[in-house]
Amino acid sequence: MAKDTCQICKYKSELWALEQFPIIPPEVTKSAGVKESRTVLLCCSCRQELEEWYLAKVSNVVYDTMIKRFREKSFLEMIKEYEYAYHSFAEYIKGAQRLRLRDVEIMAGVTRDTYDKGVLLPLPRLSGSWCSF
Ligand SMILES: [Zn+2]
Repeated sequence: MAKDTCQICKYKSELWALEQFPIIPPEVTKSAGVKESRTVLLCCSCRQELEEWYLAKVSNVVYDTMIKRFREKSFLEMIKEYEYAYHSFAEYIKGAQRLRLRDVEIMAGVTRDTYDKGVLLPLPRLSGSWCSF
């Protein structure tokens, strides 16, 4: 069966288990009148986590110091917001995997030399959530 790699966690999955996910939700690009955002191939754990990350990180209001009150963000501001949130999510997962890899190596007694070669294992995600397709 064909396999491909999740672009965030690098975990290999069957193709049917991966999904093209738009970095910026289509309703935002549509409202902003710009072309649809680029998509990334994600496993279901990353997709669910990214959706939760967006809910937690992306805000549609901003405190405007000019008018001294909160106002709704413009669509272009929202696009930047989503791009930034996606980038920070990718960095967060990469960092978490690196930490996990170091733990595995310490347990296995892997030498510093091996670590410097930068062997990054595609470790399965530790996700408690049930993925449904
Ligand atoms: Zn993934």
